[in-house]
Amino acid sequence: MIILMMGAQGTGKGTVAGIISKNTGIEQLSTGDVFRKNIKEKTPLGLEAEKYISSGNLVPDEITIPMVTNYLDSDLAKNGIILDGFPRTLSQAQKLDEILEQRGKKVDLVINLTTPREEIIERIMTRRVCPNCKATYNIKLHPPKVEGICDECGSKIIQRKDDSTEEAVNQRLEIYETKTAPVIEYYKNKGILRTEEVSVRINRLGQQVAEDIVKDLK
Ligand code: ADP
Ligand code: ZN
Repeated sequence: MIILMMGAQGTGKGTVAGIISKNTGIEQLSTGDVFRKNIKEKTPLGLEAEKYISSGNLVPDEITIPMVTNYLDSDLAKNGIILDGFPRTLSQAQKLDEILEQRGKKVDLVINLTTPREEIIERIMTRRVCPNCKATYNIKLHPPKVEGICDECGSKIIQRKDDSTEEAVNQRLEIYETKTAPVIEYYKNKGILRTEEVSVRINRLGQQVAEDIVKDLK
């Protein structure tokens, strides 16, 4: 089963994908995490991607598409995959369809998370991540049990560089509006879009949304 996670930054995509993955055994692939891992390890891919990421821009398709294709063809995807952070543009969505079609596969479900804008900004600024195991936290909504320490692996949690300045956050939200919103429309027209609001305003957080989706998948 091929599942895509859509939604602006800070809507809880990674969290929701993680819960679905744990409960279904379908592996989760976050393109952002793959880029960050490569940057940390200073691989050629990482050095190239860093130029774009540090300024809040998208990494070009020539780098991103082959990377995702490699994962789709790897053992990791043998039970399907949950893609988190890809596709982010209409051109990536169309290329993904081609790649899957060549392999006799298709996108089965697209989960679109929406959150009011004012909540998003606050959530991104209060987001923390574990650099070791990639677990994500929110110091207000979902803090670790021990302050500053990852529940899963005991590492010190940090704030991502691109989460710490309002310019970079705004830049990414802007890109999302212009480039990624048309992708939502694309999947809506295919009839495979499931939109879910994640918001404290309606007391519905990612955990609940993920549990409902898992129930429906079983
Ligand atoms: P966020 O969604 O909060 O920006 P991600 O972890 O998904 O964070 O991605 C971090 C950065 O990695 C993005 O800002 C972008 O520069 C790059 N990136 C991730 N996925 C893609 C993609 N599908 N296409 C191009 N660039 C990407
Ligand atoms: Zn950890």
